[in-house]
Amino acid sequence: MQQPRLFSDPQVASFAEGRFLDGDASEIEVLDPATGAVLARVRGIQGATAARAAEANGVAARAMRALPVDRRVALVRALGAGVRADRDRLAAILTAESGKPIVESRGEVEYAATFFDNAAAAAEMAAGDMPAARAADRRVVVLREPVGATFAITPWNFPLAMVARKLAPALAAGCSQAVKPSEETPLTALAFAEIFARTADAVGAPRGAFSVVVGDAATIARAFIEHPATRKLTFTGSTEVGRILAAQCAPRLMRTALELGGNAPLIVFGDADLDRAVEQAMLTKFRFMGQTCISANRFLLEAGIAGDFLARLEARMRALAVGDPRDERTRVGPLVNDAAIAKVERHVADAVARGARVRLGGARVKVAGCADRFFAPTILENCTPSMDCAREETFGPVVAAMTFASEREAVELANASPSGLAGYVMTQDADRLWRVAEALDCGVVGANDGAPSAAEAPFGGRKDSGFGREGGAHGLDAYVDLKYISLRVRHD
Ligand code: ADP
Repeated sequence: MQQPRLFSDPQVASFAEGRFLDGDASEIEVLDPATGAVLARVRGIQGATAARAAEANGVAARAMRALPVDRRVALVRALGAGVRADRDRLAAILTAESGKPIVESRGEVEYAATFFDNAAAAAEMAAGDMPAARAADRRVVVLREPVGATFAITPWNFPLAMVARKLAPALAAGCSQAVKPSEETPLTALAFAEIFARTADAVGAPRGAFSVVVGDAATIARAFIEHPATRKLTFTGSTEVGRILAAQCAPRLMRTALELGGNAPLIVFGDADLDRAVEQAMLTKFRFMGQTCISANRFLLEAGIAGDFLARLEARMRALAVGDPRDERTRVGPLVNDAAIAKVERHVADAVARGARVRLGGARVKVAGCADRFFAPTILENCTPSMDCAREETFGPVVAAMTFASEREAVELANASPSGLAGYVMTQDADRLWRVAEALDCGVVGANDGAPSAAEAPFGGRKDSGFGREGGAHGLDAYVDLKYISLRVRHD
């Protein structure tokens, strides 16, 4: 198998001020989740260097603001093309550091590219407006101005797509962005930085408009949030860290977008097309082994069809190939780290102790030549809302199934969570589909759809899943500040 070229040189630490830095803080070991081997050691940057990077991010924001829209659009489009051209290398690095099956990593590279396409198109079509004035001598003109220098913190489950989803609209709107990738997966973002530098040079855009800052998360976050140049924080990660960051941003009244964890319900009604429902359930549950924030976590099944649905789901799950994520056939790879697999085990043990039945899986599986980080596709029947697997995101290949008797009960169970990111409803009844989709208290609804993420959609949550939207024309709005000019026109 072809080995990706990785950042194994510890001198490569971060990409800021338009160049790769040497690094001046302790090394971060990037591990291969499949084998446990050290893939790379990246030297972190310390607080003072991060503050300098924040300053440079501010300087680049001024340059981006001055860049005409056609050049911004050219930059963003070329980044999409650059990502596609480098698909195989990016996918190989992504799989190496995250454990994502290689076929899915290629899919993520293409998905990331679509954010650049979409943001470029949105920026091209963006327009201010001029509301009808109430007074004869007044004209009000609404301008859309870039927010300025932005700071992003991204998670490990989409090492490229989360960078693209935040960066593409930022650049398209005329902002700069520094990204702090997860310490688990900084290599994909650093590989993308090479593409960025090349592309910025080619189209004549400022190289400093994108940075990748690697190091201790809290130190780097503090340096950027406290720096006066930083005008916006965008974060995707846990609710716990989201709360810490919101509190840190409060004294500066800094704009924040927080895309936090979910606990998605998937409701299957008796009138659903069960094969189609199973197909869509597989998509939401087994994308990256359930390690996504919109993965269905609670399966709510109408009592009359629960057994039939689970039997069909089980047949599909038995066919999933568990193995090395570099293997083209693999659909279930290793979980990202030891904490992830320990959480899945805790949820299964808690459910069983409280009366759930393991219908399939329920334990780790050995994969020859790999580390002990693989968990079997699992079905837990007879779950209840008080179990850990229903109250928390399991983030693993576990279907936690419970039953309901009425539409009303299904909606109540679905909404009985502090999280509100995604929800799914499977039914063939059009009236019910609308009723339930509208009643779900979350930001994203998959209606007979297990893969609702798309570059054109305004992704985001409510309640403990945070606020702010990314993607589509609304995604561009997140990087735009409105200003209006009020004019008096003399009529002599
Ligand atoms: P997960 O459980 O998915 O790893 P986290 O919220 O812990 O979610 O991590 C998401 C991102 O937040 C990562 O880039 C991580 O480095 C970063 N992070 C974690 N703790 C902090 C912190 N105290 N301040 C800023 N960023 C943090």
